[in-house]
Amino acid sequence: MWQKISEIGKKIVGAGLVEANFGNISVRSGSGNSFLITKTKTALDEIQRNGVIEMPIFCGEDDTYVDAETLKEMEKTASSETPIHRRIYAETSAKAILHAHCPYAVVMSILESEAGGASIVPIDSEGKLFLKEIPIIAGGIGSDELAKNAADALKNAKGVIVLGHGTIAAGETLEEAYHITAQLEHSAKIKYLYAAAKNTYR
Ligand SMILES: [Zn+2]
Repeated sequence: MWQKISEIGKKIVGAGLVEANFGNISVRSGSGNSFLITKTKTALDEIQRNGVIEMPIFCGEDDTYVDAETLKEMEKTASSETPIHRRIYAETSAKAILHAHCPYAVVMSILESEAGGASIVPIDSEGKLFLKEIPIIAGGIGSDELAKNAADALKNAKGVIVLGHGTIAAGETLEEAYHITAQLEHSAKIKYLYAAAKNTYR
């Protein structure tokens, strides 16, 4: 499965959606109780077998299959956004998650939030049809607040934008998470370019 993660990592960087070190990718395991996620400081376009780590989804006393100490050590190695991925897997049926610091999505989340908005409504036809509305959520990197907000929002949306930070897309497959990410960035870009040009056109 790491090969698939590696492939999507190359694709997302190659498409210019994100710079190599700004994002993370995960996939739920076959059994459903764990997920494979990129390690911290892993360049998304250079993922090798040792660039991913398997993490448990449920860490309660009854469900834990690694002890708390071991889990803490594993979390140091895994992406700093691992708690966000874990909560989304625990609370939704997502099978793959892609988080990326896409530039237009980041800029539009700030502009929209400053204008008092809590979501971005796409103006391009694909975005209108496919995303309808993109929630803007808040919370610090790897925080419980962000984990909760992301899991809640992704129960009703294919993708969200973390304010001033980046996109989170959840899908049935990594390909789907990739397409949602590309659509989120495309819709943000079109809306940004339209807003930038409309007052000077003609
Ligand atoms: Zn991030």
